[in-house]
Amino acid sequence: MVWNNWSGSVSARAALARPQSEDELAALVRDAHRLRVTGAGHSFMPLCESDELIVSLDDMPGEISVASDRRTVRVPAGWSIRKLTSVLCDHGLALANQGDVNPQSLAGAMATGTHGTGADLGSLATFARGFRFIDADGEAHWCDADTHPDLYQAQRLSLGLFGVATEIEVAVVPAFHLAERIEKRRWVEIRESYDALTQQHRHVEFWFFPHSDDVILKTLDPCDPCDPPPSTTDMDEARFRRILDLSARLPFLTPLLQRLMMKSGISGRRRGPAHSIFPSDRTIRFEEMEYEMPRAAGLETLEEVVGWIRKRRLPVAFPFEYRVVAADDIWMSPMNAGPVAAISMHQYANMPWQTLFEEAETIFRGAGGRPHWAKRHSLTRADVAALYPMTARYIAVRRAADPAGKFLNPHLESLFA
Ligand SMILES: Cc1cc2nc3c(=O)[nH]c(=O)nc-3n(C[C@H](O)[C@H](O)[C@H](O)COP(=O)(O)OP(=O)(O)OC[C@H]3O[C@@H](n4cnc5c(N)ncnc54)[C@H](O)[C@@H]3O)c2cc1C
Repeated sequence: MVWNNWSGSVSARAALARPQSEDELAALVRDAHRLRVTGAGHSFMPLCESDELIVSLDDMPGEISVASDRRTVRVPAGWSIRKLTSVLCDHGLALANQGDVNPQSLAGAMATGTHGTGADLGSLATFARGFRFIDADGEAHWCDADTHPDLYQAQRLSLGLFGVATEIEVAVVPAFHLAERIEKRRWVEIRESYDALTQQHRHVEFWFFPHSDDVILKTLDPCDPCDPPPSTTDMDEARFRRILDLSARLPFLTPLLQRLMMKSGISGRRRGPAHSIFPSDRTIRFEEMEYEMPRAAGLETLEEVVGWIRKRRLPVAFPFEYRVVAADDIWMSPMNAGPVAAISMHQYANMPWQTLFEEAETIFRGAGGRPHWAKRHSLTRADVAALYPMTARYIAVRRAADPAGKFLNPHLESLFA
């Protein structure tokens, strides 16, 4: 059958398996020649692509188990963030941070370094305390910081190269509530005050349509307990879709349309349990590239990319998204050399993106950026080795765990064989 990723930019013709037990999964892995495991297929890069077998854990059974100190839980790796956070809420618990959306699987989100925004908050992978996984021979193992520490390090940002995760131990926090505030602000003002804002708010980010002088600022801060919000999203998608369709038909109008759109009043307020405020519905398909910049270089780099788009009046129809993520110590994490400013460049899925991304990537790379592993990039094997000092160890652990390359596909083989 044909498998597609969320944006529609990757498709694969392969057998699709949905094992219903760990034994069934183990037998599938043991007998496979090559396979890839998929979560929600939200990655833009061909991470899940296979021309043999794609395995989904959607039908796997499993329950949450809460540690007695309530600081960690063990959950099925294939659970979506949506399911995980809703079950955590039933137990009075939460994830300390989340990204923009919640359909991703926990394993898939961790495997690519998925993150939200927050100066003191790391990516989801920093919450992982241990993994149960099926290895290339179909055997189940556990790894954590003490048991098979190298495998644990690799599993924290694994790209699915080290086996199929079936259960993950995750650090959690007591449930909390958030107040969301959305407002229009001048870009020149935000450029000056953004660093201060990251200290004033638990979470802060902004969207920047490249042809407008205003940005949409979003902050999230703890608030008193309250009911979930009536809306499951932070934006008017129907209106945005109409504008995007017009841009796709008449690309030269993109700058004008963006300025008109940003002229209208933009503001919003929502409150609710954190897990209902972090994510928003994103039903408009787009393609995305994201570079994690050294924090200090972030705003200047964004200004440079936007300046290049304006100068050439390029039809980049979607806004940039700008977030911050704390440093971590994960081998292949783009955050492992220090805190980053994450700059996401999007394009409407119905409009060309390849050349735009290629050219913007030279700016991001020139300023010392490292790409989000799930989003469009063109790193070569030599680039990866130059950007990540732990590459050789990561590859050595991969070769020991999977000598026959069962979990490789052409994209991953080109980087990590
Ligand atoms: C609308 C949208 C919004 C997004 N928002 C954000 C955001 O806010 N922040 C951010 O950082 N990223 C974001 N992303 C990127 C997204 O979080 C990543 O692509 C993430 O990997 C998707 O999770 P998934 O379950 O779809 O994984 P998939 O894309 O299905 O798989 C990703 C990787 O995980 C591996 N994998 C999956 N399950 C397992 C398993 N059980 N064991 C081992 N390996 C496994 C796969 O083999 C693959 O290598 C967004 C993407 C989209 C489309």
